[in-house]
Amino acid sequence: ATPVAMTASTGQLTRRGVITTRGHALETLARIDTLVFDKTGTLTEGELRLEQVTPLGALPAARCHALAAALEQGSEHPLARAIVAEAPETVPVEQLQATPGRGVAGEIDGVAYRVGNLAFVQELSGAGSVPQPVPGQSPVYLGASDGLLAVLTLSDQLRPDAAQTVAALMAQGIAVRLFSGDEPATVQRVAEQLGIAHARGGLLPADKLAGLRELQAQGRTVAMVGDGVNDAPVLSRAHVSIAMASGVELARNSADMILQSNRLSHLPAAVDQARSTLRIIH
Ligand code: ADP
Ligand code: MG
Repeated sequence: ATPVAMTASTGQLTRRGVITTRGHALETLARIDTLVFDKTGTLTEGELRLEQVTPLGALPAARCHALAAALEQGSEHPLARAIVAEAPETVPVEQLQATPGRGVAGEIDGVAYRVGNLAFVQELSGAGSVPQPVPGQSPVYLGASDGLLAVLTLSDQLRPDAAQTVAALMAQGIAVRLFSGDEPATVQRVAEQLGIAHARGGLLPADKLAGLRELQAQGRTVAMVGDGVNDAPVLSRAHVSIAMASGVELARNSADMILQSNRLSHLPAAVDQARSTLRIIH
């Protein structure tokens, strides 16, 4: 393709709501054979709703909710935003420390607390029995140094065009994968709903990166689509990366393209356009 054709094509993509931030993006997009999706906030709306707070210790549900919200107040994570939005009261917290892909730690009235995934909270609270996660819902745990306090259950919805997008990408000959930090059972269920055969859950940011490197070592040309702080390393290392417009700033700055309207269906359209601009026949 001539430089003029490339520029025209980039302009057309922009009008379709796909902003290109780096020069190589269109050419690389034309050549991808594998695309990896993040789940929460990418394939799903990320507009989570807090369904239930189930106490696991001595504190009542409302107090557990307030403690969790206090810890989450500074977090940009979609789970955190949903917990804070519906908090019953404000509680002062100190020593806040977020760990991407795991959760947040902090101190309230001199007591250490953690909120996040089970493994992260159990490092503080010790093992304890927890209810089986409800399929399709994401559990967030709250614990103190003397034990687990609660499980908060949040529900998320698939984006309306997620299934059609996955099908369209596959029809373009692109292998679709799912890498998520969420509970493996929840991730598996989403993968089944979308017809994605290869899905991995419980991944830390470094695990997502290792998963990407494995695919690249197989000689694949890989695109990554994500929205979170936990996706930033893998977005920077993918051959070409796309961030959701609703994603956090770090994710948007790490990506080569931005899906302006959060419309996943613009992805296969962009691949089509990139391929015809570059005249790559598949
Ligand atoms: P995904 O890869 O699906 O976008 P993340 O990697 O962002 O998910 O999060 C993985 C898991 O880590 C979440 O499902 C949650 O259990 C936990 N987690 C991460 N950050 C937070 C937070 N701020 N509050 C509660 N839980 C969190
Ligand atoms: Mg995400």
